Amino acid sequence: MVRIAVIDYDVCRPSKCNLECVRFCPINKSGSKAVELSEVKNGKPIIYEAVCVGCSICVRKCPYKAITITNLPDELEKRLVHRYGINAFKLYGLPTPINNRVLGIVGKNGIGKTTAVKILSGELIPNLGILDTKPSWDEVLKFFRGSEIYQYLSKLVNKDLRVVHKIQHVDIIRKYVKGTVKDVISRVDEKGITNEVRKFINLDSCWDSNISELSGGELQKFAITVALLRAADVYIFDEPSSYLDVCERLRVSQAIREFTRGSYVIVVEHDLTILDYISDYVSVVYGEPGVFGIFSKVYSVGSGINNFLIGYLPAENMKIRTESVVFSKFGRSYEVRAEDISMSWPNLMKSLGNFKLSVDAGSIARGEVLGIVGPNAIGKTTFIRLLAGELEPDEGYVPTTALRISHKPQYVKTELFKWETVEEAFKDLCNSSQLACSDWFQNDVIKRLGIHKLLVRRINELSGGELQKFAIAVSLATDADIYLLDEPSAFIDVDERLTVCKAIRKVIEVRKAVAFVVDHDLTVIDNISDRIIVFKGIPGVMGRASSPTSLKHGMNDFLKELGVTFRRDRKTGRPRINKPGSYLDRYQKSIGEYFYEAYLEEVEE
Ligand code: ADP
Ligand code: ADP
Repeated sequence: MVRIAVIDYDVCRPSKCNLECVRFCPINKSGSKAVELSEVKNGKPIIYEAVCVGCSICVRKCPYKAITITNLPDELEKRLVHRYGINAFKLYGLPTPINNRVLGIVGKNGIGKTTAVKILSGELIPNLGILDTKPSWDEVLKFFRGSEIYQYLSKLVNKDLRVVHKIQHVDIIRKYVKGTVKDVISRVDEKGITNEVRKFINLDSCWDSNISELSGGELQKFAITVALLRAADVYIFDEPSSYLDVCERLRVSQAIREFTRGSYVIVVEHDLTILDYISDYVSVVYGEPGVFGIFSKVYSVGSGINNFLIGYLPAENMKIRTESVVFSKFGRSYEVRAEDISMSWPNLMKSLGNFKLSVDAGSIARGEVLGIVGPNAIGKTTFIRLLAGELEPDEGYVPTTALRISHKPQYVKTELFKWETVEEAFKDLCNSSQLACSDWFQNDVIKRLGIHKLLVRRINELSGGELQKFAIAVSLATDADIYLLDEPSAFIDVDERLTVCKAIRKVIEVRKAVAFVVDHDLTVIDNISDRIIVFKGIPGVMGRASSPTSLKHGMNDFLKELGVTFRRDRKTGRPRINKPGSYLDRYQKSIGEYFYEAYLEEVEE
């Protein structure tokens, strides 16, 4: 076994703690040195892995939960590709890109996906874990000789591959790229395909806008368009679906497949429906976020995602999940019985500026979760705000005054919270709600989302993803009759999305409450919804919300407009997009079943 001690130096605060890791270490007490403060780390501690005995006392004592100590098999060290420094994250293995194929990468956040992508793009020379003298690319190539990835890496090192990388955090583009969308795009088109790409990725609304003024979604579409217009041998798309609505995600995925033919393509994505659709094959990254990550062998896209959900990787005989994720939605549509109704609303109308929303009457039963789907700017948030009593309808009346509402808005701002620290919030919530204190909530929500590691943190210092997880947990820990969750999957990883789905269902069941969940990730919508509400119309002009309907009917209606068909996976029951023009795509369109509930199998190449 090899011992790994990792310190999260971003949260380690030796000036604020009592140096528990140094003082309580039994090796230090015996006169040797396993942990000490070091100039190398600007006065923060270093743990000497060769001396440490792995007792984990420091792990438990550290008030900031900054230390992790774990043991890994010796065999694995032979696959060590990169370590960021002393007591830093370790990456094992790399996935092999294949020409003319799309490689999908799936795994939690902080597990090494971006690190691998930086290596595969040539931006980072892996150090093979050698920290004192950095190895050269030639030495790195020697290490990979005989492995599948050797050929790719040698081409990369010889500069035979031109790489284009659509980065994960598109927001920074606003700062660095000057000019209008139109100007920049006309400058970068090396393939003369601007018009074709524009047909897929609609940039019309911002064509003349300055890059500095673009919204998140517009920036994402702009960045993807720029990448596709470049003549490259390798295209890398790190989280292409962020900020995009469900319709945009589908169109962008089609564009990526269409305009990268004949190249190496690598996609990192947390929306499993989209990852499944774009990729030909996948590699699963597993391990412990922030500590170590291991790239699995590659699997065909269908079995790779199934293995990921089931939680077992057969080629490496590795269990990566304690409980499998299954989608058992078969025939879940039902009529709401009058005695089970928790809330009803009549037909509603609301005008906001130039936008007009009409809502068809509906009701929701106790214990039920309603998914809400539709493009952006179609009135989903307005509907939620009408239900929450934040907006008065122009016509109709929403009788929610006697009901308690817990609302996680689309944009989470720190000012929404009355507490200073995360710990304060949960102490308070625990006092007012038994469920928030229950073992189940602590284990399956707080720990799974990593919120227990944030307890001492100030709410206004949380990152976007941390704040989202905190806001979801606060919302679910609050005792209420109605839970309104607007885009819970934004900024969180694939595992956290599945955890959130499970948590929402359980909270609603236990509290006999109701939930409305707006989301653009169709795996999330499918996993949590009993029924759905579909929004249609003209974004920014008018929207119409359907009455709650079964997933089958609602999705059928929604997908028909998009011309996309779905089937269910036989093993996990998850929804899968049929490849356009495939046998099932043609068959389902011919019978008008755009969302097929029966388990059908598309033969994978
Ligand atoms: P992912 O893309 O899967 O979210 P990353 O590859 O970005 O993960 O990061 C993996 C781990 O490596 C994270 O814990 C991150 O904190 C750490 N890490 C990333 N870059 C550095 C760096 N320059 N120095 C030290 N640690 C880093
Ligand atoms: P969604 O949640 O589906 O993205 P919203 O309900 O937020 O859509 O918004 C629907 C439309 O209403 C958008 O075009 C938005 O710009 C407009 N809108 C929302 N709030 C206001 C407001 N207070 N005044 C004027 N227009 C508004």
